[in-house]
Amino acid sequence: NLSEKLDKAFHILKGHGKITEVNVADTLKEVRRALLDADVNFKIAKDFTARVKDKAIGQDVLTTLQPGQLLVKLVKDELTELMGGDVAGINLQGSPTVILMSGLQGSGKTTFSGKLANYLKTKKNKKPLLVACDIYRPAAINQLHVVGQQIGVDVYSEPDNKNPVVIAENAIAFAKANGFNVVIVDTAGRLAVDQEMMDEIARVHAAIKPQETLFVVDSMTGQDAVNTAKAFNDILNFDGVILTKLDGDTRGGAALSIKSVVNKPIKFVGTGEKMEAIDVFYPDRMAERILGMGDVVSLVERAQEQFNEEEARKLQKKIAKNEFGFDDFLAQIQQVKKMGNMKDLVGMIPGASKAMKDVQIEDDAFKHIEAIIYSMTPAERKKPALIDVKRKNRIAKGSGTKVEQVNQLMKQFDQMSKMMKMMQGPGGKNLMKMMGN
Ligand code: GDP
Ligand code: MG
Repeated sequence: NLSEKLDKAFHILKGHGKITEVNVADTLKEVRRALLDADVNFKIAKDFTARVKDKAIGQDVLTTLQPGQLLVKLVKDELTELMGGDVAGINLQGSPTVILMSGLQGSGKTTFSGKLANYLKTKKNKKPLLVACDIYRPAAINQLHVVGQQIGVDVYSEPDNKNPVVIAENAIAFAKANGFNVVIVDTAGRLAVDQEMMDEIARVHAAIKPQETLFVVDSMTGQDAVNTAKAFNDILNFDGVILTKLDGDTRGGAALSIKSVVNKPIKFVGTGEKMEAIDVFYPDRMAERILGMGDVVSLVERAQEQFNEEEARKLQKKIAKNEFGFDDFLAQIQQVKKMGNMKDLVGMIPGASKAMKDVQIEDDAFKHIEAIIYSMTPAERKKPALIDVKRKNRIAKGSGTKVEQVNQLMKQFDQMSKMMKMMQGPGGKNLMKMMGN
């Protein structure tokens, strides 16, 4: 992938005491090749390396940094610039704020509409309304209702109305009358850019005059993503780009090219199918990630978001009273899972993606553990000491695992309980501090 290739490119500089024009040129040739392989537009890649080269040659070679590191920094800074430099916020003016989704079929519009509604509701204290304007497939309206139900957001639809312009206008009137302050209009897409679709979205756009018109694009589609972005931008002059499916095996080229081709910022990224899998797009973090530096800041932020102080206090009380059971253990696992899939999380740890690249990480690494716990009776979960050999056999059968796996989990649980107990006891505060350091 791109990170590995860039890493290889920088190896050329290893062993050189200073940056010379020759080894910089060699390295940048490799960088350019890596960018092209990642589907970055040819001209962008060429300009990119030219800029880095100018800066590298102009640098004081007596710097304390290693030349390789210096070049990595220059490349990182340029990548950041290429992806827009600063974070682009979302415009929430207007009452209600009207947000229009555009993009091809399958790009992730409906999913992202739900994610954005959930984000605005939980993080920005908004009262959003989702609007179903994909009138061509009955399943599409249904899909939005399912999404709405999942996140507790109302969905406006008119199953018998075949005019998306009218539906959108009616929805806005409905929102005004019913105290919704954000209206998110989900639209129909086609598999490829076609005139009919463009005309329709242009008509909806003209009628409802959204504060934010967002173009949703599947980051796995490479150069095509850039062409589609251009076509939609020509018609809609949209305000921002949403890159979806960044959790997949994407080559990252779309993120690098789109901003410079349409000159519109990437505002959010989608990193999974779940409603929580939405992230504000940070160009500098993305650049670091591409370069394999990991994304520690995002990781820490996600952990903090999922951490609930009140829950933690309750848990501490339980531990103190020896009441920590498998139900609590399960809740802990679910917390960790909410942070994202294991592959994503590993990708955010600096160096880890490289170290783990040959290790097969299961998408759901906790599957067995959960199955085992689900096969326990409530009494067993509350009081693990009840679980004798006979019960272990039953649990293994019920969960489709082996007794050894049940034993292993019991052991892990035991160790975890002991450790938590220890951290709470006298001197526990110090132990916590020690671990924190
Ligand atoms: P639409 O046709 O543009 O409305 O696209 P949908 O929202 O229906 O999404 C198409 C498919 O992509 C669905 O199966 C979604 O679950 C999936 N999808 C959407 N966003 C993401 C994402 O960020 N990551 C992954 N892995 N899948 C996604
Ligand atoms: Mg859809």
